[in-house]
Amino acid sequence: KLTFDELITHWAQEKPDQVALEQDGAALTFAELEDRSRRIVAMLAAHGVGKGDRIAWLGKNARHYFELFYSAARIGVVMVPIGWRLAAPEIAYILGDTGAKLVFIDEGFGELAAKACGELDTPPEIIDTPTAQREIAAAPADAFDGAGPDDPVLQLYTSGTTGNPKGAVLTNANLFSLRQPAEAAAQPWSSWDEDEAILICMPCAHIGGTGLGIMAIAAGIRGIVQSEFTPDGVLDGFEQGITRLFIVPAALQMVVQHPRAKDTDMSAVKYVMYGAAPIPLDLLREAVQTIPGAGFLQCYGMTETTGTIAMLPPEDHALDGNQRMRSAGKAVPGAELKVVGEDGAELPRGEVGELICKSPSNMQGYWNLPDATRGALKDGWMHTGDAAYMDEDGYVYIQDRIKDMIISGGENVYPAQVESAIYGHPAVGEVAVIGVPDDTWGEAVKACVVAKPGSEVDAEDIITFTRERLAGFKVPKTVDVIPEMPRNASGKILRRELRAPYWEGRD
Ligand code: ATP
Ligand code: MG
Repeated sequence: KLTFDELITHWAQEKPDQVALEQDGAALTFAELEDRSRRIVAMLAAHGVGKGDRIAWLGKNARHYFELFYSAARIGVVMVPIGWRLAAPEIAYILGDTGAKLVFIDEGFGELAAKACGELDTPPEIIDTPTAQREIAAAPADAFDGAGPDDPVLQLYTSGTTGNPKGAVLTNANLFSLRQPAEAAAQPWSSWDEDEAILICMPCAHIGGTGLGIMAIAAGIRGIVQSEFTPDGVLDGFEQGITRLFIVPAALQMVVQHPRAKDTDMSAVKYVMYGAAPIPLDLLREAVQTIPGAGFLQCYGMTETTGTIAMLPPEDHALDGNQRMRSAGKAVPGAELKVVGEDGAELPRGEVGELICKSPSNMQGYWNLPDATRGALKDGWMHTGDAAYMDEDGYVYIQDRIKDMIISGGENVYPAQVESAIYGHPAVGEVAVIGVPDDTWGEAVKACVVAKPGSEVDAEDIITFTRERLAGFKVPKTVDVIPEMPRNASGKILRRELRAPYWEGRD
């Protein structure tokens, strides 16, 4: 079982001069990481922080964040990265919930941090980056006791797509269990060449951001940090020779549809990982055509499972009309997946139920939420809350969130399927499908559409278009044309915000 402590020591011996982390041209080698992390441990101790304590990061992605996270994890100090797009009360909630002793802030976050801390009775000490850097440089590089595999090292809040964010407590073993050499040998994309570089551009407050830093340290390769996602940043990264990246579908769309995309040299890219939300099939096809040399890997997972537990491998991305391209993939080596009915019994292949997962990457539990933990983790099986079916070969097909399922006239409608059909309409830029109250049908299907720039959307036209492609009960009864799609920081559409005005005063 790997730990941060062992990995850092190992890479510092094995390849001291190899770059571990890089941002805007500034680099940190594994030898430097080994030395600096000892000083960071001493600096934390000087603030009275040790194993089992929590510290927070408020800021964009930064080399300093990853260095701090890796170092704190060596001694079992739990890092809580906080989404920088959150408002002060939301930040205060997380700081209060975790009882963090210190909050490290990046440049430009002083005011927000002060405001959030002002709402707390026992606020954490705020440490800005220049202060932290001074203290680290002045601290001794002493020896210390490293944390073990089962010690928590990371507390990540879920995206808050379906309700309040919950803090998933993750241990060393959770983080590295699916990234052991034995698993790596089983699949080509788990092995790395020495000179590879991975782009970390998704927000570090989510597993899609911090998870890539974990991947980089596990593989001992270069992590290239960008403070935030921009399509230009990714295209620049391609030209600078990044070999892998992870982005969410909304970001992938911005990259492949960027005017620069067709003139960008993408030949160094080996694997494009995408996921965290359903991807429209047309977008996936376009992406595969735009980055032809790369292997595409769909990742399915959740914060509670330390990210990816199912993967759709490159060979299932053939553009010959294969149905597999609609799948989120099959269980990664080391993880087990099952689809169960309401009584918890496994369903026959092809039947839709709840997807559950047994994996050494499953979280220890939700912080301070024993009931939610019991509801989510039963006998070690994480209940994903996602409706899915599995085919004969073990490929899973995610339908949608169980919470978002629309029941119209007794028929189950999964919004993602309807959205996928509507995305085929040339005037549609973005679409979200929700259920609204209906006296006859209980719920009626409604589509909320953002037009493509320069296009106009006609409601009747969308309805006719969908009727030609889907069963009648799935066709929207009404269409709202809206200026902008509400999304959270991980790029996920917030259907609950679209739904809220229609359900006000009802259940
Ligand atoms: P919250 O739990 O707070 O409502 P969230 O579920 O969006 O937020 P995350 O842990 O970031 O928080 O996301 C996990 C969810 O993302 C999964 O349960 C699933 O619904 C969705 N998801 C992840 N990967 C995929 C994928 N490849 N295809 C479709 N949906 C995915
Ligand atoms: Mg969730």
